Amino acid sequence: MMATKTTGDVHSVVFSPKSCKLITKTSVCKRCKQEFTYNVDPTKGNKIVERDPHACRYHPESYAGETAQRWLDPGDIKDSHKVHYFWSCCGASEYEAPGCKSSWHITFEEEDTKKWM
Ligand SMILES: [Zn+2]
Ligand SMILES: [Zn+2]
Repeated sequence: MMATKTTGDVHSVVFSPKSCKLITKTSVCKRCKQEFTYNVDPTKGNKIVERDPHACRYHPESYAGETAQRWLDPGDIKDSHKVHYFWSCCGASEYEAPGCKSSWHITFEEEDTKKWM
């Protein structure tokens, strides 16, 4: 009696077609260069599904330097030679500052995120 029941259970666990539909892949994000995993649906031409929309933090503009002269009054030369670096999107001065925008990670095969936002 026990043996018959066990055999029946094994079959019911192995065959579950719905959970086999998605394929999990690993890629490196084109934007933040971090490794991430994502699922694709082979029945929809490997379309990416179920992505965390805030997994990727980034700055949409560049980290650039400018001399202090820009903020000084004409004729004021104090520290005018010093270069200040900052993110031009949000003004954060640390290069390591967390991104001021978030989106999902993107693969190198994809275009940039603008069309999804
Ligand atoms: Zn920013
Ligand atoms: Zn990313």
